[in-house]
Amino acid sequence: MRCEPACDMPCQIRFAPREVLLQCEPGAFVMPEPLFNRIAVIGLGLIGGSFAAAARKNGLAASIVAGSRSARTLEQGIALGVVDEGSQDLAEAVKGADLVFVSTPVSAMGKVLSALKPGLSRTAIITDGGSVKGNVITAARESLGEHVSRFVPGHPIAGKEKSGVGAADADLYRDHRVILTPTEATDPAATARVRAIWTAMGAEVLQMAPDYHDQVLAETSHLPHLLAFSLVDTLARQGDSTEIFRYAAGGFRDFTRIASSDPLMWHDIFRENKAALLQSLDLFSDGISRFRQAVSDDDSDALMGIMTRANSARAHFMAMNGRTSYTRAHHSGDDTTMTDSSNANPTFVVTPGGRLTGRVRVPGDKSMSHRSIMLGSLAEGVTRVEGFLEGEDALATLQAFRDMGVVIEGPHNGQVTIHGVGLLGLKAPGKPLYMGNSGTSMRLLTGLLAGQAFDVELTGDASLSKRPMERVARPLRDMGAQITTGNEGRPPVRIRGGQPLKGIHYDLPMASAQVKSAVLLGGLYAEGETSVTEPAPTRDHTERMLGGFGYDVRRDGATSALTGGGTLTACKLEVPADISSAAFFLVGASIAEGSELTLPHVGINPTRTGVIDILKLMGADIRLENQRDAGGEPVADIVVKSAPLKGIDIPEELVPLAIDEFPAIFIAAACAEGDTILRGAEELRVKESDRIQVMADGLAALGVDHEVFEDGIRISGGPFAGGEIQSHGDHRIAMSFAMASLRASGPITINDCANVATSFPGFAQLAAHAGLNLEVK
Ligand code: NAP
Repeated sequence: MRCEPACDMPCQIRFAPREVLLQCEPGAFVMPEPLFNRIAVIGLGLIGGSFAAAARKNGLAASIVAGSRSARTLEQGIALGVVDEGSQDLAEAVKGADLVFVSTPVSAMGKVLSALKPGLSRTAIITDGGSVKGNVITAARESLGEHVSRFVPGHPIAGKEKSGVGAADADLYRDHRVILTPTEATDPAATARVRAIWTAMGAEVLQMAPDYHDQVLAETSHLPHLLAFSLVDTLARQGDSTEIFRYAAGGFRDFTRIASSDPLMWHDIFRENKAALLQSLDLFSDGISRFRQAVSDDDSDALMGIMTRANSARAHFMAMNGRTSYTRAHHSGDDTTMTDSSNANPTFVVTPGGRLTGRVRVPGDKSMSHRSIMLGSLAEGVTRVEGFLEGEDALATLQAFRDMGVVIEGPHNGQVTIHGVGLLGLKAPGKPLYMGNSGTSMRLLTGLLAGQAFDVELTGDASLSKRPMERVARPLRDMGAQITTGNEGRPPVRIRGGQPLKGIHYDLPMASAQVKSAVLLGGLYAEGETSVTEPAPTRDHTERMLGGFGYDVRRDGATSALTGGGTLTACKLEVPADISSAAFFLVGASIAEGSELTLPHVGINPTRTGVIDILKLMGADIRLENQRDAGGEPVADIVVKSAPLKGIDIPEELVPLAIDEFPAIFIAAACAEGDTILRGAEELRVKESDRIQVMADGLAALGVDHEVFEDGIRISGGPFAGGEIQSHGDHRIAMSFAMASLRASGPITINDCANVATSFPGFAQLAAHAGLNLEVK
């Protein structure tokens, strides 16, 4: 095929715009051989026309032919340039085709397949775009004879409210999903070829069993369409419907948009997917009856329960779709159709200079956010939480308690209201509790659930599924719990309900706040006293917060003890701002001349304040004002002013108390006069990244003199340049180097900053507000 006389190279661009053809240089547009020689599209409407147009646009067939009922449709398809030729005789239309795409209404497919069969070549692959799969497969089995092994059932999850070839769109399938449902009889080679053409059209291809497809689509697409049609019809039949519709607000329009879809097609789909649709309709009827009951009984808790669960499920679904690149909404008549526009992994670009001033409220403490949900759920009464960290880990804990029947409102701007059910009020969840990536959730919940009356299973994402769980399971078994863990003591964790627990004394073999907390939380359900002795101080948020909820925790040196069978009393809780998040601003304001920053309501639990002690030893000007107690935790407003810093030997006893803050402290060291030396910090090598090495690489990129040790680093302060930093997905590294720009002589570009949002939502905005010249790209 040649496009212009000037060009003697074979190419496939004859459908390109004329300007392109005229600019064509020999060989410039040579494309590979098309995937198929001849494609026959049977049923040239929206779906078939778009398939033909996409095949054409992407050069996927040498020729495209249509078979359709009406001559008008065929003429229109040819006039639009979607197909080359057409025939009303379907057997004629498929002659010589190596791919046949059937896109008629599902109810017509049996007849259509029988009609085209006589024209099929021996090796032709047949596929379809029907919205229901079970019945189409039955029709294919009955109609296609020996050709059935090359029938690959498919369904593009894309559409519009318009129909007919006039609405055909060559980009309809780009960034959309296509589901293939091959059966045991389907030749895998045929499936691979069909997969290849959809992929070449820009679609993401998924594969699933036909029954599952029909069930899922009944729930997510067919049921909502049925409800939209039904609502509009129900209201329209009432008295003067024009009156109703005149006052109909945006909600009505949003909810009923899909009732504008083609009635004929939906009539067809509802009939063809009858069994699955009825099943999901029954499920919905149960749900709506429960809702009705709650309204009629004035049952405020039940109402809030339904709506908060729905709210969070939708938020989860939107976030999930965001991550899997499904964000740009597209008007759709059939299935939810959204496409990619998400910025998966932002880069920070920070230009040098500036100073930090004003008040900066950093997000709530993660450890305490977890515990506020756990203890609030088990308390008697309503607990109101402010400053909750809306990061994924704490949200996993929140969702787990919702799944166990606790009504939780929010979070909205860090506010959460928990309708406590008491220590014995949790209900068996309908499915395993999913902890995402949160080790804290899984370990603490193992303790808390060991003494419940019901069985429960805890699961997590791929990375959590590799973390050790026996360290919590072992002492809980000693208390009488029945707990099994997966391979090599890793998740899933399965807990057998109804096991009476007995208090024990446990000497922690490792300094772990999670293990200590799990045993103490198990102890709430145990007979007698449970006590834990730790080998070195660890975070004591659980002990303090239990106290805040009125539970008596006895502390004696390294030992904490409580007696089971008490009650927790709901309270008002303001989660302190996280000192780990405040650390970046403490360093930033210290190193940038002219800075004066107030960080209100920061937790200053002595097990966490190593960063303040270290920065003060370096000469930082940090004052704690307005010290007070918040739910058992000490908090203060921290005021920090710029000050000349000097290098120090960091005292080893402060290392465990500042372990998460070292990336920020390294930046302070790079700006200090003289050498700062850190030893005894090998733990840093097994954090989210090898923080010693990754920080050292970043310091090297900026030209900061340093020397790496196995257990630490020496950093020599002085002027440094800008440069490009790889954060290796470690949020603390990214935020630390953002602060370094305050003293760099050139811009700093920090790659791989996606995880900043999970530990410190809104960091970029807050930092920019305080005076950092930060841009997110
Ligand atoms: P459409 O625009 O109305 O086109 C339907 C086509 O099928 C027309 O070309 C029509 O031919 C032909 N046709 C209709 N009834 C027929 C019959 N009894 N015998 C032979 N041919 C017949 O519909 P569509 O939206 O493209 O839908 C086609 C298929 O795609 C359906 O199975 C539907 O379930 C599926 N689907 C639709 C969407 C969507 O959002 N629309 C999304 C995914 C999948 P004439 O024009 O010649 O009459």
